[in-house]
Amino acid sequence: MMTVNELWNQLDRLVATPLPPERIALFHAQGRVLREAILAPEDQPAFDRSAVDGYLVHADQPAGLATLDGTVHPGSPAPTTAPPLGTALRIFTGSALPSEGVALIMKEDTKLADDHRLHLLHPPSTRHIRRRGSQAKAGDTLLPEGVRLNAGSLTLLASIGAIHPLVNRPVRVAHLVTGGELVPPDHTPTEGQIRDCNSTLIDALLRDCPAELAWQHRVDDSRAATAKALEDALATETEIILVSGGSSVGDYDHTSALLAAQGFTIHCDKVASRPGKPFIAASRDGRLAFGLPGNPLSHFVCFHLFVKRVIHRLSGLEPVALVRATLAPRAELRADPRETWWPCVWADEGAQRRVLPLPWMDSSDLTILGSTAGLLRVPATAGPGAEVEVLPCV
Ligand code: AMP
Ligand code: MG
Repeated sequence: MMTVNELWNQLDRLVATPLPPERIALFHAQGRVLREAILAPEDQPAFDRSAVDGYLVHADQPAGLATLDGTVHPGSPAPTTAPPLGTALRIFTGSALPSEGVALIMKEDTKLADDHRLHLLHPPSTRHIRRRGSQAKAGDTLLPEGVRLNAGSLTLLASIGAIHPLVNRPVRVAHLVTGGELVPPDHTPTEGQIRDCNSTLIDALLRDCPAELAWQHRVDDSRAATAKALEDALATETEIILVSGGSSVGDYDHTSALLAAQGFTIHCDKVASRPGKPFIAASRDGRLAFGLPGNPLSHFVCFHLFVKRVIHRLSGLEPVALVRATLAPRAELRADPRETWWPCVWADEGAQRRVLPLPWMDSSDLTILGSTAGLLRVPATAGPGAEVEVLPCV
């Protein structure tokens, strides 16, 4: 049985390089991974600008009266020279300014003496000039490769006209759900049946990843039906095939044998993790297939531990890093011969941020899944010390 660390290393070897990137319109790029560093094409800001609404005057202008001599509207070029001493130009936030010999005074610090004259209540200053290049110089890195584009970074790209960024192509995933006991969530189960929730789980997890659910299908446990559905899954244009259920060694567990029959190399069929032990990792010509245990909590854990890691690597993102954390003193944890990945939340205790394990019955327990913020790593047998590792899930 492989340890989680061993399986991580194996998966990293299997996905040595990300998928080729593509250029897309900025408008569609939210959530994509930037696959190029973005450099400032020119100084930021590109010209000296006013940070305030007020008046532009000569750098040596003292407090007192000045004659109004016109307006510099935002969007129009800067005056070529400083206003002569004793005169003032009306300026607005963003107005372009001459690069030398000027000062500003905020509107609030002035009073109109009459229609043509202004009283400066104190001497002007250069404090409110946003200097060219003060935020970044031409050629500076504005965004490194490998970040996910969010509202803020998209705005930065728009501001420099980078309207076709090079980003990851979404990883495409097929999800085959097996189980004769399963009915769709909109059906009422008869006795012995249960609703399929892994379809919903995977759909939602992939949206966050980011990855695309290209195909999803539910079949009963018969070998023939599973074999046919697996063929259909393999016929899709996808990089990853997920099979829900059937990853163990029972009479209805066909995943490993069917993947092998399709020419896949099975790298792992059990991992020393609780939950998540019957986990299959297989590959064929660069395509990856995973058999995940059917219990939704096991599905959740295996997805976060292994599938998400592979999706991140294929997308050009670093895998989610484990966070070191301090266990809340009142935490109760059961150690196990297998390493446990325990659903947990963050708890603020005084000034300290600690991690609190959620009450968890077994891997069929879904009541805590909605509040799970991370998976707390409980080492095998020894039990946790005060310092633990957490794999963040949100
Ligand atoms: P399996 O991995 O197929 O042996 O399933 C383990 C447990 O998870 C069984 O109790 C199944 O009924 C349950 N299970 C399997 N698939 C799903 C699913 N898609 N949604 C909810 N529960 C499931
Ligand atoms: Mg099953």
